[in-house]
This record gives sequence, C-alpha cells and structure tokens, in this order.
Amino acid sequence: MTENIYKEFGICDEVFELGERILEKIKNRFGKIDETAEYNQMRVISAMQKNRVSAPCFAESTGYGYDDMGRDTLERVYADCFHTEDALVRPQITCGTHALALALGANLLPGDELLSPVGRPYDTLEGVIGIRPQIGSLAEYGVKYRQVDLLKDGGFDFDGIRAAMTDKTKLVTIQRSKGYQTRETFSVEKIASIIKFVKQIKPDVICMVDNCYGEFVERTEPSDFGADMIVGSLIKNLGGGLAPSGGYICGTRECVERCAARLTAPGLGKEVGTNMGLMRQLYQGFFLAPTVVASALKGAVFAANIYEELGFKVVPNGTESRHDIIQAVELGSPERVVAFCKGIQAAAPVDSYVTPVPWDMPGYDSQVIMAAGAFVQGASIELSADAPLREPYAVYFQGGITWAHAKLGILMSVQKLYEEQLISLK
Ligand SMILES: *Cc1c(COP(=O)(O)O)cnc(C)c1O
Repeated sequence: MTENIYKEFGICDEVFELGERILEKIKNRFGKIDETAEYNQMRVISAMQKNRVSAPCFAESTGYGYDDMGRDTLERVYADCFHTEDALVRPQITCGTHALALALGANLLPGDELLSPVGRPYDTLEGVIGIRPQIGSLAEYGVKYRQVDLLKDGGFDFDGIRAAMTDKTKLVTIQRSKGYQTRETFSVEKIASIIKFVKQIKPDVICMVDNCYGEFVERTEPSDFGADMIVGSLIKNLGGGLAPSGGYICGTRECVERCAARLTAPGLGKEVGTNMGLMRQLYQGFFLAPTVVASALKGAVFAANIYEELGFKVVPNGTESRHDIIQAVELGSPERVVAFCKGIQAAAPVDSYVTPVPWDMPGYDSQVIMAAGAFVQGASIELSADAPLREPYAVYFQGGITWAHAKLGILMSVQKLYEEQLISLK
C-alpha cells in the first residue's frame, strides 16, 4: 500500500526500493535521533510547567504591550529551558540576521573589538559587521573586527586566537553551523572548548554563539558551557514550523538587558512590545521544536546515505554525528542541481506546481536556484533546498516539519535525477 501511494507521486519501484534499503541501514540512527528528541521534549515541557503556562498566555496584546503576560512568560520558558538568566523572544525580531545584529550592536561600543575565532561569519553578517561596507554597520560605529581562520585541518588556531585577543576584545562570536561554507559544523563540545579557552585569556569577554540550525540537535546548548548569549531565528528550529516570524536571544541578564534597550529603546527595554497575537504559535512551536528538529535530522541522514550510495560526496557523510540540520550534496553538474531542486519542489504541500529555475540574486556572484514550498515564507525549518550554480555544484538542503514529507522530498529528488538520466541506479 505504501509503495502504491508513492507511485501516485510518480516514484518508480527502483527509487522506492533504494529508499527502503537505505532506511533499513539507518534505523539505528533514527532511534538515537528520537532519544534526543525525547530528552529535549522533557526539557521544554518542564520549563513550561515550571512557569505555569496557561491559556491566558496566548491572549493578544496591543499597543505598547505593557504587562504582557504571554510575552514575559515565554521569555522565562526559553531562559529556563536553555539555563540562562534571561531571554528576549520577540516577533519584532525579523530574522536571524536581525537577532545577531541586535546582540552585537547592543553589546559592542565604539572602540571595542569583535573577534571571530572560527573564520568568516555567515554571509549576511559581513554587512552587519562591516567586512563588506554597509550603512549602519558596526564598522561605521567604530567597532573593530578581527578574524582568526580555522587551521587547514579544520581545527581552532589557538595560538592565532591568543594573539588576536587584546584588552579591547569585548565580544567573541562563534558560529555553530557551517552555513554555506565547507567546514564542519561545531558540536556543542567543541564550542565549549573554545569558550573555555577565550575566557581563560580574558574572563570578562562576552561569548556569543550564532546558534542558527543547531538548536535541539543535541541535548545541551552552548549556554550550558559558558556562552553569554545564544542567538537564532524562530523560522528555523525553535519556531517548530509554527512561528510565522521572530528571533531569540538567551543569555546573561546584563547582555539581554542591553539587547532589549536596543530593540525597543533605552529605558523601555523588555517592558514594551505587543505580542501581535502570535503567542499560541510561539509556545506551541517551541513545544513541537524537538520533534520537528528530529524530523529534519532524519531527512538529512536519509539524504546523506542515499546520495552517498549513488556515488556523490555528501557533507556531513552518511555516518558522521550531526550538529545541525543542514545537508550538503555535491552533485557535480548544473543539470543535476536543477533536477534535485525540482524534486524537492514537486514534493511540497504549497506551490508544488511551480518549477524552480536558476536566477540572478543580489549579493551572489553566480545564479542561485531555490526550492521551497513553505507555509511560512522563507522558513528553512520547512523542507527547502538552495544552490549557487557554480563548482562544485553542491546543493544545500534542510528542514522537513515531518519526517514523511522529508522522505517524499528526497525520493522525488532522486526520481527527477533518474528520469533525466543524470544518475544510474544499481
Ligand atoms: C540562517 C542563518 C543566519 C541568518 O538568518 P536569517 O534568518 O536568514 O537572517 C545566520 N547564521 C547562520 C549560521 C544561519 O544559518
């Protein structure tokens, strides 16, 4: 029966059977992913119970949003779950870049130095920091940026980091996920080691972790190991697919207070900001996040193993441990990249009839193709794929609010490649 329903989507026996064969092989991995989700689910429920979440928390506030119980309680839930003193969780934070810009801008003053000990940051942060000249960048405000690249073997350049730290180094930014780079994603353990190292050199340095795509992949978060702020987007992991907008910063009381003063206004801080009637989605999304992340992870592991079997290089590979939900597949030709994205699109619940095509995008030096059929525009916790049309023709894909949808998307991508004779099935 299951096989027949896939046939209705145009998936042939060979592709379906390949999928089943791979699934048999990775059962164990799925078991481990479910165990992590179970553990994190308990953490979320515990934080909600402790803070007595109740129906009035879901009520809409308007105007200034004074005494917004839903908003204030949600922030305590996040803070408790991630073991931080405080949190800022707001729909007014428009995206991950905004949350990161807020955390940096609020905690760095003119003359301060910002250090990235893990190489180049995510593309959009280059404008925020001023690596790429941009109106309103930190550079414009007199914040100096230093960067220490990773060693050739991908390890931290501890000597380089020590040399780059001065008495002006105020904040160290650590990006957990690889983004669109080829380096590995850092485990929480690795992030803990770098935090420990920089705090030994300068105990009062603020450690900020760009936590995008990493939340709930492991049982701990960088905030359990000395990170002063963890920062991310609610249309990625923690929104659980339900949050229509928003970002979060969990951290020390002092850091979060500064962020709030910057988000709203000095003197107003966390006291204002209507919840826009989004509270139920933000609570329920957070409640669902551990299992949604598990679904996305299963999709990533499934894809890694299928495409490895088909002879492609995949990062991470089929057996490596996971620290974020991103999967890269090096397809080696533009035709394959396009076919892959067509498959992902064709499996979507929304806009499935649309054919993705490569396009010139501002800020990119080559054409880019994107596949997304999402309920929330641009939400990358939903099954989505994108790829710049250049060597090595790697496609990055992520998300999948349900494992079954992720599976369908991946099988469809294989089907499209097979139909266009761009792969051969053994
Ligand atoms: C997605 C992402 C960002 C930026 O988030 P947006 O919501 O796209 O602005 C920053 N850093 C990393 C590592 C990301 O994955």
